[in-house]
Amino acid sequence: MTTTESADVVVVGGGTAGSVVVRRLVDAGHRVAVIEAGPADGRPEIGSPFGAGALFASEVDWALSTVPQSHANDRVLYQPRGKSLGGSTILNGMLYIRGAHSDYDAWAAAGATGWSWREVEPYFRRLENYDGAADPTRGAHGPLRVHRNTDPDPLVTAFVDAAVQAGHRFNDDYNAGDSRGVSYTQATVDDGNRVTAWRAYVSPVADSPLLRVITDALVTKIVIENGRAVGVEYVHDGERHVIRADREVVLSAGTFGTPQLLMLSGVGASADLRQHGIEVVADLPGVGRNLRDHVASPVVWESGRAVPTPRMTGIEAQVIADSGGTGATEPDRQAVFLSFVYSTIAENLPEQGFTALAILLHPHSHGQVRLRSANPGDPLLVDPGILSDPRDIEAIVDHLESLRDIARHPALADWITSEVHPGHDRVSRDALRDYVRASAGSGHHQVGTARIGTDPLAVVDPQLLVHGVTGLRIADASVMPTTPAGNTAAPTLMIGERAADLILGTH
Ligand SMILES: Cc1cc2nc3c(=O)[nH]c(=O)nc-3n(C[C@H](O)[C@H](O)[C@H](O)COP(=O)(O)OP(=O)(O)OC[C@H]3O[C@@H](n4cnc5c(N)ncnc54)[C@H](O)[C@@H]3O)c2cc1C
Repeated sequence: MTTTESADVVVVGGGTAGSVVVRRLVDAGHRVAVIEAGPADGRPEIGSPFGAGALFASEVDWALSTVPQSHANDRVLYQPRGKSLGGSTILNGMLYIRGAHSDYDAWAAAGATGWSWREVEPYFRRLENYDGAADPTRGAHGPLRVHRNTDPDPLVTAFVDAAVQAGHRFNDDYNAGDSRGVSYTQATVDDGNRVTAWRAYVSPVADSPLLRVITDALVTKIVIENGRAVGVEYVHDGERHVIRADREVVLSAGTFGTPQLLMLSGVGASADLRQHGIEVVADLPGVGRNLRDHVASPVVWESGRAVPTPRMTGIEAQVIADSGGTGATEPDRQAVFLSFVYSTIAENLPEQGFTALAILLHPHSHGQVRLRSANPGDPLLVDPGILSDPRDIEAIVDHLESLRDIARHPALADWITSEVHPGHDRVSRDALRDYVRASAGSGHHQVGTARIGTDPLAVVDPQLLVHGVTGLRIADASVMPTTPAGNTAAPTLMIGERAADLILGTH
């Protein structure tokens, strides 16, 4: 074991939130080391908005799997996660959405003091470089280019028009005020290129003498001495190293990596840790619990017309809605329109067609992650408990019907030859329930495994400091108490911005 060097702050993971923390600390004059398990940002596909397909299941994807999901026909669900500088922003869908104001107010009310919408909104403005019309609610000078879809093709336009005909209001900017309605999407693309968190935040300061970037380095443990995190252990080129943190360690390893490292370091439910022979440093039973994710089921249509080549990302329109009828008054449904055929069911897919994904934004079902073993190289046991709460199946069935309703409106009439999934023969609620169990998949928006709060199952306090350990902070999607009403990259970047202020004491 060699102790290579030290930094003021050691950041574990050069992913979405990690990139933000690194940049803000370097700008403030701190010596920062970032340790990333994956390789440097080298694959050419990362730069393309259409390159993710080549990255899935490659060396830059953790490619985790769930355990068989007993409420979803015992299917094992694929859980992609970026493994390179930029983290999951190297292969995500690039859709940019802040979430509903009520999400953050609910976090604050449940114990995440300081995280209400009023308090987090300035951080969204700070991170954005939005290219739409000037608006006091939007940021125009941040590091992250957010591009407004100004050039929708005729099919995307037809979907938006059909949604309006079905009663959804047209929302010109779902990130300004109420997110509900049908909209053309905003995406993290700049001049036709994917914008990753690393490229937006860290590339401009890559040559700073304050920054040390260590890639291909799997962090295996947080070094905790007398209750204080003083550095991390990592493996690089087969050698074990320790890097010390003079000020603090920031865990930005994501919703899976962060709880895994906590548990490997003795921070977690004591009974579970002992079962793997890990010495308990802090008994925190909430570590790894509260795994939350959006759940999605597709409607796939065959088209007799040539589907236009996507102009921005292929995810170019969305509907945000509340189900109302079930008592919801805040957004709880999203439908994203995909200009291509996408389904977890591989059979009978048309050569030419398109998809709308019925997504539940606040599913009742949730699960947990657990260690498989004390070996840091072993993947976690991931159990999202998908559809374990029957209310979710009913809500997806309702949502699928609402998408069918959109498709029945005149604007889409010329585009649809037939509904392939769920399919015209699936009419009864029972048949649709079967379809949901066969088709529902991850929204890829996993959060919550190290959530903010002050109750016994909370993992970090509202300053993002780990309960029971000093000098250890978490900045990534794992701290979100619940899924926001939208995709999770923008809220994760906001968390990175706020974490930086908390570290710097400028909050
Ligand atoms: C396929 C897919 C599509 C998505 N689409 C969208 C979308 O369109 N819009 C949107 O807003 N969100 C989307 N998301 C979600 C969003 O990208 C994530 O919520 C967000 O990027 C998570 O950020 P994070 O900082 O928590 O983790 P990550 O960005 O995943 O970063 C974690 C980093 O830590 C590193 N790491 C982990 N463990 C270790 C270790 N032991 N040692 C060293 N390094 C380690 C990882 O390699 C990674 O670089 C999508 C996600 C996926 C997977």
